[in-house]
Amino acid sequence: MERIYLDFDMDVPRYICTVCKHCTSTMGISFGRIKDRGCCYYYPKFELIHIQRMSKTKEGLKTLNMIIDYPGTVIYRYYIHVKGFFDHKTYKENYNKALEIMADKGIEDDTMFFRACAFVESGYGCKLPPRYRSSVCNLFICSDIEDHSTIAEDFKPYERERERYIRWEKWENEGLAHILAKQGCDLLSDFHRSIEILQDIPLDIYEFKKLDEILIDK
Ligand code: SF4
Ligand code: SF4
Repeated sequence: MERIYLDFDMDVPRYICTVCKHCTSTMGISFGRIKDRGCCYYYPKFELIHIQRMSKTKEGLKTLNMIIDYPGTVIYRYYIHVKGFFDHKTYKENYNKALEIMADKGIEDDTMFFRACAFVESGYGCKLPPRYRSSVCNLFICSDIEDHSTIAEDFKPYERERERYIRWEKWENEGLAHILAKQGCDLLSDFHRSIEILQDIPLDIYEFKKLDEILIDK
């Protein structure tokens, strides 16, 4: 039976849904060149808390370098945004098919079927270790699954804990931005100095609530 459960990668929480391995959800539809990418059409944003985590180990720094070397990466004062792949050719060819799905499912974004994240590998998933992914990536479950009648109620504690965690991360990010600002530094003005400062700040750990596994009766 399929299930949803909570897992950790070095204290970093993530929700695992076993259905994702053979995704048939609306968000998993791709008309672009990159197929079988699940809902990884998202262009991830790496906030200071994620960058701080990466700054702590050799492997993390390697991941950070890979992220900043990507051509679609834009560095902002307190976060990094990675603009992934957009298939302009199939957008023109398959736009009407996308419109049909949008009308049927009440979707407003006409680009999602043609996009792919820079770090997704078709049929494999994400190339980044979970501990360095954004929380959107680690804690997102699509509405086709979340709203499924057999799990909607059981999923509520997952939703509540996700909201609490996101609030905690926001608080941490603001704190880290404040520390950088006090030292007259940010990712845009001096990237390497900012990383050194983040490296010296101890990592705070969030006590994620234990959550019962959910069985999905599909
Ligand atoms: S969360 Fe939904 S859309 Fe994303 S991979 Fe899983 S089943 Fe597919
Ligand atoms: S960073 Fe990884 S998990 Fe997040 S959207 Fe990209 S491929 Fe998917």
